[in-house]
Amino acid sequence: MNRKDLKQEKTCVLIKPDGVKRGLIGEIIKRIEQRGLKIIALQMIWATKDQIDRHYPKDKEYIRQLGEKTLANYKKYGFDAKKELGTDDVFEIGKMVRGWLIDYLTSGPVVKMVVSGIHAIGMVRKIVGQTMPSQAEMGTIRGDFSVDDATAANREKRSIRNIIHASGNEKEAEHEISFWFSPEEIHDYKRAEEDIMF
Ligand code: GDP
Ligand code: MG
Repeated sequence: MNRKDLKQEKTCVLIKPDGVKRGLIGEIIKRIEQRGLKIIALQMIWATKDQIDRHYPKDKEYIRQLGEKTLANYKKYGFDAKKELGTDDVFEIGKMVRGWLIDYLTSGPVVKMVVSGIHAIGMVRKIVGQTMPSQAEMGTIRGDFSVDDATAANREKRSIRNIIHASGNEKEAEHEISFWFSPEEIHDYKRAEEDIMF
């Protein structure tokens, strides 16, 4: 990676329907921009189930991870996954959670964007905070604006409402950016602070 590329790492952000409906678009954009990260593409859309299905990874590993996290949570709080969900198979549970996620992301409009900057992928994940709002640090978007937890969400057979999506790694970022945006919709420009901040 040359010096220019390092400053232009790209990541994909979606403000989820709960974030949009709660009027948090401005707050989220503010936090990304104030860190010195640059928004280079932005649009509101009402996604279809097929689009969200293609947005999230479909590989066995991702689905297994989703299932494992959910199952671990059931154990932690002493709930019986088999009784509540009809199965304790990690893969089946992963598929179930992924289905809830598709319903959630199509329940209203989302704001999609591409963010660029130094370590943009990790930096945005830091600003966003961890998946479970009830465990997310104060000062993060999820920690400051949401309270949901897997125990409540799973019992109601819905996705955890955590306001925002951000690519988890380079592979996800590449896939999501090219999936949601055509090259002409991504803009290269210089922010005024660039010469001073980094
Ligand atoms: P993220 O990268 O932090 O968004 O987390 P993941 O990629 O692991 O999961 C995608 C989304 O699925 C999360 O943002 C949540 O909305 C939802 N989700 C993840 N784990 C669980 C879970 O255990 N239960 C429920 N109900 N939803 C979950
Ligand atoms: Mg993820």
